Amino acid sequence: MSWNVDGVRITRVVEHVMPFTIDFFAEAAPADVAAEPWLVPDFVDSHGRYLMSFHTFVIEAGDRRIVVDTCTGNSKDRPLIPEFDHQHRPFLEDLAAAGFAPDTVDTVVCTHLHVDHVGWNTHLVHGKWVPTFPRASYLFGAADIDYWARSEDPLHAIAFADSVQPVIDAGLVEPVASDTRLTAEVHLRTTPGHTPGHLSVWIGDHCVITGDALHHPIQCRHPDWTARGDVDPDAARATRKDLLSAAAAANALVLGTHFAGTSAGRVLRTGDGYRFAPETPY
Ligand SMILES: [Zn+2]
Repeated sequence: MSWNVDGVRITRVVEHVMPFTIDFFAEAAPADVAAEPWLVPDFVDSHGRYLMSFHTFVIEAGDRRIVVDTCTGNSKDRPLIPEFDHQHRPFLEDLAAAGFAPDTVDTVVCTHLHVDHVGWNTHLVHGKWVPTFPRASYLFGAADIDYWARSEDPLHAIAFADSVQPVIDAGLVEPVASDTRLTAEVHLRTTPGHTPGHLSVWIGDHCVITGDALHHPIQCRHPDWTARGDVDPDAARATRKDLLSAAAAANALVLGTHFAGTSAGRVLRTGDGYRFAPETPY
């Protein structure tokens, strides 16, 4: 599935889709989900659970190939989440079939350093975690590197050790401390809150890859909701509202990093907030 924005091509490669219970958002009630029947079946399943997709967006801008987020990975020791634990999914085969063999990628951006955004940074070769994209510069938020390097969080610290530290040790990491332009069209904006060094990716003003500033289309209606894993919920709320406001004002194509369905749509301002209008690729 691909989109074209301002001469830039963006292709989605899905690793997997899984459901999450209502309490993924702390303030959510079943009635809130039932009030949005259009979410079924793409974004909510028949049991009223949120569907979340884990996918990569590959940006082709000129001769640059930029991979945004690397999902959960294979063979990783993730005892807390069965769907992430010692998986054997054909993601690299699917990425190559879409035209993106790992050694043709020159930039990897992780919007943040959570377990489900760093997995394919490395893969297992002869019992060692080595960079999957050997020619790439890996761009990580500087504040995320500092934060997660010191964290003892049982889910994300283990991912730092096997999916971030080996890339640092290989000398491939460029920390991103402020808004950064990658090409004439593509730039990174710091969007702290979900994590301290969180980044979102913009194509001009006309397209945004959200990262986890937004997790699910229902947050357009409820931008105050706290998502599981928000390190600073107040900052995350402020960032989310800024992103929604900018996307609505520019009528930007919103590519949701965990949005299922086509993952794409527009954010429309309504009387009391926003609503998400899904879109098929064009
Ligand atoms: Zn995530």
